[in-house]
Amino acid sequence: MKLLFMGPPGAGKGTQAQLICDRYSIPQISTGEILRAAVKSGTAMGKKAQEYMNAGKLVPDEVVIGIVKDRLAEEDAQKGYILDGFPRTLEQADALGKMLAESGQKLDLALNLAVPDDELVRRLLERARKEGRADDTEPVIKSRLKTYNDQTRPLIEYYRKHGILREIDGLGGMDQITERINLILKAAGG
Ligand code: AMP
Repeated sequence: MKLLFMGPPGAGKGTQAQLICDRYSIPQISTGEILRAAVKSGTAMGKKAQEYMNAGKLVPDEVVIGIVKDRLAEEDAQKGYILDGFPRTLEQADALGKMLAESGQKLDLALNLAVPDDELVRRLLERARKEGRADDTEPVIKSRLKTYNDQTRPLIEYYRKHGILREIDGLGGMDQITERINLILKAAGG
């Protein structure tokens, strides 16, 4: 099963993606996690990415597309995966489509987890208190939401047009949201 998970920062896509991955034994490919690891280990790519991440901006397309291309070529990604936080621009979505087409593959579903802005800010500030992520401060959160609305939200229509979009109400308890997602995956034959 090849899925992608979309949604604004703080929608809970990372947590839900993790649950699906455990259930279907497929890897969760999170560009945010890969970038944070690169920042931590101080690689050249990490240093470049850090400036964008700390400002709540998107890391340039060519960097992120390169990361995903390498990751999808790995052995454990051959039978399926969840892309968490990628694509985030139309350019990335087109690049992904081409990458998959080259190897005769396609995405099964694009899941969009929808949560209103005021609830997102509340959740992200709470995560900041618990996890202390460098980009979970209020000004950076606002910038990330704006980036999402300007650059990533158009992907909802993009995948709707491709006929693989499934929308999920992201308000409610974690188990409730997991249940909504499971119903969609079952209906898709998962
Ligand atoms: P996330 O953990 O998915 O919220 O990502 C954290 C940060 O990493 C984002 O705010 C971006 O700066 C960067 N990032 C993650 N995924 C992407 C992507 N697909 N394109 C560009 N930047 C990304």
